[in-house]
Amino acid sequence: MRLSAFAARFNAGTGTAQLMEDLAAAMSGGSATAMLGGGNPADIPEAQALFQECMQRIVADRARCANILGDYGSPKGDAAFIAELARMLSREHGWDITPEHIALTSGSQSAFFILFNMLGGDFPDGRRKRILLPMAPEYIGYGDVGLSDDLFTARLPVIETGAERMFKYRPDFERLEVGDDIGALCVSRPTNPTGNVLTGAEIARLDELARGRGIPLIIDNAYGLPFPNIIFNDDATPLWNENIILSMSLSKLGLPGVRTGIVVARPELIRAVKSVNGVINLALGNLGPALALEIIRSGAMRRLCDDIIRPYYMSKARRTVALLREKLDGLNYRIHRPEGAIFLWLWLPDLPISSAELYQRLKRRGVLVIAGEHFFPGLRDDWPHSRQCIRLSYVAADEVVATGVEIIADELRKL
Ligand code: PLP
Repeated sequence: MRLSAFAARFNAGTGTAQLMEDLAAAMSGGSATAMLGGGNPADIPEAQALFQECMQRIVADRARCANILGDYGSPKGDAAFIAELARMLSREHGWDITPEHIALTSGSQSAFFILFNMLGGDFPDGRRKRILLPMAPEYIGYGDVGLSDDLFTARLPVIETGAERMFKYRPDFERLEVGDDIGALCVSRPTNPTGNVLTGAEIARLDELARGRGIPLIIDNAYGLPFPNIIFNDDATPLWNENIILSMSLSKLGLPGVRTGIVVARPELIRAVKSVNGVINLALGNLGPALALEIIRSGAMRRLCDDIIRPYYMSKARRTVALLREKLDGLNYRIHRPEGAIFLWLWLPDLPISSAELYQRLKRRGVLVIAGEHFFPGLRDDWPHSRQCIRLSYVAADEVVATGVEIIADELRKL
C-alpha cells in the first residue's frame, strides 16, 4: 500500500513516538527496574481519593451520567466547565477572561499540533513562518508536530552556575532577535525537561518582544498556576493578556487519562481552534471537563493543588536532589535548580559518551531516563552541552528512585 507524504511524516518514526514505544516496551516486558523516564504524573493517594469521590457523585446522577456518556458535546468543549474556568481565572488572576477566550482540546499535545501549524508553516502570501523556542532545552513533544519541515527554530540559553552544584538556564536576550519569519514564540513554564520557571520579568520581556513583532507568545502552562501548581518558588506570577496564548492541561493534576487540554487566547484564535477540533474530533470528550468542574465546584481545586499536589512533588524533588548529592559525590555534575514540574535535569560536563549512549547503557541495566539531546527541537547549531544532560522523573516510589539513582551513579563511575 502506498501512503501519502502526510502518512510518511508521522510514520517515519518520530522521536516522540519512538521514545514512548521504547518506554512502553521496556515496562511491559518487565525489564525496567527503575522507570525514571516518561512524563506520567504520580499516583498520589489523597488526589486519587478526591477523584474517586467526584466520580462517584457524577455516576450517582443518572442525567449527568447519560449526558457525559451519551451526548456529543461542542467542538469548543463543555460550556459549563469553560464558564466556570473563565470565572476562576478572572477571579484568581484578575484577567479579563470570558468563555469566548477558552477552547478545550483533546489533551494539550493536540493543542500544540493545532496552534503551531496555525501560526507557523505556509501562509497565503507564500511566506513560510516558524515557531521560535527562545530558550532550549524545551519540551520534546513539540518537535514532531509540524506539518511543514523545519517548523521550529530555537535559541541557546545562558548558563548561570550556582552554589551546591546547581545551575540555571536564562534566556539569552542579547541574542534573541525575532525575525519576520517567526509566527509565534513558545516557552513551557515550568519547563519540561529542566524544571526551570521563567521569572515574571523574563516572561514580560518575551511578551514585549512578541508584541513588538505583532505575533503571539505561547506559554505552555502544563505544570503551572492555577492548576496543577507544581511550582516551588512563591514569586512566579502567571501572565495572560490578549497577545498571550496560555495552554493548560488536566494531565499533571493526575488526570492524563481523560485527555483534556485548555487553550486561553483571544476569541479569534479560539474560534480557529474550535474549527480544527470540529473537523478532527467532531466533539471533545465530556468526562475530563465534568470531573474538573466537580472538583472546582466542590471547592476542592485549591486544596488539591496547594495542599496535596505541590507539597508532594516539592518533597519528592528535595529527596531526589539529596539522593543525587549523596550518590554522585566525587563526580563532576550539576543539577538544574528545581523550581517546578516533575523532573530533574542532570548535567554531566565530563560525560565521555553521548547522553543517548548513556541512555542505552542504563536501559540495559533496567533504568529508564531520557537522553538530553532529544530536548532541543529546532536547534541547528551543534552544542556539546545538549549531549551531556539527562532528564530524570522523580514520580516513582522512593525506593524505585533510589535504585535508579544508585545504578546511574555506578554506571557513571565506570565511564
Ligand atoms: N506540555 C508539556 C510541557 C508537557 O510536559 C506535556 C506532557 O508531558 C504536554 C504539554 C502534553 O500533555 P497533555 O497532552 O497530556 O495535556
